[in-house]
Amino acid sequence: MTLPVKYQIRPFPNYWHYIPASNTSLALTFFSTIYLPRELYNKLTSPNPDLFSKSVLLHERTHLLELYEYGSLKWYLRYLLSRQFRFSAELRAIEVQMNYLAAHGGNYDLEWKADQLSNSTYVWAAAYTEAKSTLTKMWEDAKKHPPTDTRALDAEVQMMLGKIVPAQGTASPLHFS
Ligand SMILES: [Zn+2]
Repeated sequence: MTLPVKYQIRPFPNYWHYIPASNTSLALTFFSTIYLPRELYNKLTSPNPDLFSKSVLLHERTHLLELYEYGSLKWYLRYLLSRQFRFSAELRAIEVQMNYLAAHGGNYDLEWKADQLSNSTYVWAAAYTEAKSTLTKMWEDAKKHPPTDTRALDAEVQMMLGKIVPAQGTASPLHFS
């Protein structure tokens, strides 16, 4: 499915680093903008982006599609208030990502993501053991039955790569005078 409305993909603005408790290691979808951490932005704008970095675009795209489906505000409220919704929303995005990776012979770091899902990164969305066993099962399924036709996903990735724009300016949007 193609995204129905306009959206942007850009690196996090510099001021993001000054926001307490902000996370700059993960991509973030906020309303119609996908923000990329600097390292991921650099990889995706290099001549040959690696498979995993490209899979992150599909992960964020899954969140975007849900935002439109639910209505952004409703989605964010549920995401913030419900640990269960947060966990399942992440799993839905991870599933798309895993299918893409499995189809292209890539890898998925299960411990790393189980760690994040059970710590402050995703505001303790699940217990580590639950996250780890769920992810392990999903990854095994994806490897056992990877999608045979990835043309639609590949085309989405290409389109998203073409949409990445540099950050607007380099200074903070807060003006001190
Ligand atoms: Zn996510």
